[in-house]
Amino acid sequence: MSYPSSDRITLLPSLNSGTILSCPECGMGLYMLTKKVTRDGTFEGSVKPLVGVPEYARGSMPKKCPLCKVGEWWYPPGTVHTLQYGWIA
Ligand SMILES: [Zn+2]
Repeated sequence: MSYPSSDRITLLPSLNSGTILSCPECGMGLYMLTKKVTRDGTFEGSVKPLVGVPEYARGSMPKKCPLCKVGEWWYPPGTVHTLQYGWIA
């Protein structure tokens, strides 16, 4: 899996509470935002792991989906895949 091409990435300045971070490969919801976050910040303290997903931990490597172990839902510095909007930067 490689970095999503720029025409697949939507620029959004912030994500609302309730947005689901999801796997681009298997489509599973991984983390739900519990409060609004701006895209220049971190998700630490503002996401709740969904069923079967480990606690979110800050890291600098692309994050593999813990369910299918294939999809990567986060790329540095801050491109993430959401259920509602697809890829967001
Ligand atoms: Zn997956």
